[in-house]
Amino acid sequence: MTISRRVSGLLACVAICGCTTTGGVATAPAHDNMDSVTWLQSSTEYAAVTTGIYATATAQLREIANSDENRTRSMAVVLDIDETVLDNSRYQGQLLLDDATYNSESWDAWVALRAAGAVPGVVEFIRTSQSLGVHVAFITNRPCLVRENTPGACPQAEDTLVNLEGVGVDTRSTTLYLMSDEPSDRCRALLTEAELNDGKWSSDKTSRRECVRLDHDIVMLFGDQLGDFTELGSGSSKEPGRDIAAKYAEYWGTSWFMLPNPTYGGWKPRDSGEKRSRIRAID
Ligand SMILES: [Mg+2]
Repeated sequence: MTISRRVSGLLACVAICGCTTTGGVATAPAHDNMDSVTWLQSSTEYAAVTTGIYATATAQLREIANSDENRTRSMAVVLDIDETVLDNSRYQGQLLLDDATYNSESWDAWVALRAAGAVPGVVEFIRTSQSLGVHVAFITNRPCLVRENTPGACPQAEDTLVNLEGVGVDTRSTTLYLMSDEPSDRCRALLTEAELNDGKWSSDKTSRRECVRLDHDIVMLFGDQLGDFTELGSGSSKEPGRDIAAKYAEYWGTSWFMLPNPTYGGWKPRDSGEKRSRIRAID
């Protein structure tokens, strides 16, 4: 079954109930994400921004690798997956066409397709990192979920690795940490108090970063959400706000690299609400 059919089937009621009728012809209502998805998929500007971010990081990583000959520990770069390495805008586009919203079932069907593209610039960055001997670790909040007719507790890990290989990433020497996966014995002691209950990684990426740090010095972090860099952006229902960005000003563009994602994130209101409550205007 294609993602289109699955999403359509699952959310047929939403699609039908969400339509308006004009002269007897059903038309889909305007959707908040239309411009965002179009920008990601079609604009030169998006590709220019992400290519520039990864080119800047590549130049800085070369400098770090060539300047510190006394380093005794291996270096690592840590990347989030979605909208940092893999481009899921086709999933977002399908939701738009189906007049649907995100849900875990349609998302998992998309992950199983292993068909996401690469964010422009990232494949070259990863190749350079590996050629410099820098370890590449992926920390993602793609969840491990048991899937019908698929063996194993976390088929999403294999899906993600195959998808990464498909866009040109050599995953053989990389490490991948998924949400709700079980930590290795060495990293189990790093689970936070909140994670101890079920013994699995939570959406807070802090403990997984600590797991990477057992063997490596993390020299760069890449993400599209604040939680990819600090625990302050994890698990909060409230957007942390720009004062947090200012607090970490010295890191942005030097060791922390934020990728643009206009399609979803903690910044986005959970419901459409009144325009005036969402934006600032002149009066
Ligand atoms: Mg992401």
